[in-house]
Amino acid sequence: MGHSHATPDLDSLLDQCSDAGLRRTSALRACLEVLLKAGQPLTLQEIGTSPFLGISCDPATIYRLITRLEEKRIVRRIGFHSRAAHYCLRESSHQDYLICRDCGSVEVLDITCPVEHLEKEIAKTSGYSDLEHELEFFGRCAACQR
Ligand SMILES: [Zn+2]
Ligand SMILES: [Zn+2]
Repeated sequence: MGHSHATPDLDSLLDQCSDAGLRRTSALRACLEVLLKAGQPLTLQEIGTSPFLGISCDPATIYRLITRLEEKRIVRRIGFHSRAAHYCLRESSHQDYLICRDCGSVEVLDITCPVEHLEKEIAKTSGYSDLEHELEFFGRCAACQR
């Protein structure tokens, strides 16, 4: 899969969800739309309070939906070391991140992936397929330094 920057559209994501056995509810559509428009990893709380959500979804519904999407490998969970888990669409975002140790904010790194060639090499020598990686750089964000 690698680092494709092609942004999937909502319809193809919904098709993917149907194929994975998820029901096409308005809550599902709303959550996907939020993740698509955000273009960066979001916490469950951020998904729930996003202006792009459009409908009112209780936190339990969002949690259940995102968990299913994660199981179906449509959404990926990141930021294991930060305070809250963040979620993003697997196909639309780069997988290298900058994370603030103090506030736990997560940013997508806008860099050419430094280990992409390594991934190909590992796939070739190990026989593994569908390799993926995520790099996490930790530091203190500008806001937390003030
Ligand atoms: Zn911070
Ligand atoms: Zn990378």
